[in-house]
Amino acid sequence: MKNKIIIISGPSGVGKKTIIDQFINDPKLNIKYSISATTRKPREGETHGKDYYFLDNQDFVKKINNNDFLEWAEFANNKYGTLKSEINNILKTSNVILEIEVQGAVQVINQIKNMNNDFISIFIVPPNIEELEKRLRNRNTETEEKIKLRLAKAKEELKQQDIYNYIVLNDNATRAANEIVDILKKSLNE
Ligand code: 5GP
Repeated sequence: MKNKIIIISGPSGVGKKTIIDQFINDPKLNIKYSISATTRKPREGETHGKDYYFLDNQDFVKKINNNDFLEWAEFANNKYGTLKSEINNILKTSNVILEIEVQGAVQVINQIKNMNNDFISIFIVPPNIEELEKRLRNRNTETEEKIKLRLAKAKEELKQQDIYNYIVLNDNATRAANEIVDILKKSLNE
């Protein structure tokens, strides 16, 4: 069976990382997380090569020009991208999970058609926009200006959720993670 690409999106602050962390090490799923490149500065506790490859703008642009990215996008004034090398390495042995925003997901979906790999796409939604705003604020990682930008992006992204195969409500992280595990167990064995 060919290894698959799993795309997980959802507005900033919805809890994607928390949910993914609950099943990423499940040996039955055999998935690895694709580490993205970004020009965003590391948050407290984030490390280069684990959470992201943190690059300056010049290095990121070099990689764009080298055609190193499967997809990349601007999000809240920073660039984020999935490295082809990362994906190709992981796909040799495992399924790969891409935690990316919507513009990137659209690019990947269009490209996978030429890659001969199946994919599963999941969009995680918050119970409502007020709850999302509360989570973004409680996280305490962003300035007021960035919170506003991320909320505006969230509203745009929520309108595009129909391009995904599955929509999962994050009313509770463990419940949402279990729902995703069920989807993956079913889809990865197809
Ligand atoms: P954050 O700054 O909160 O880590 O990420 C901001 C947004 O960028 C999130 O929606 C996250 O899913 C998305 N993101 C992270 N890595 C990538 C990537 O490689 N490509 C794209 N298109 N989006 C990404």
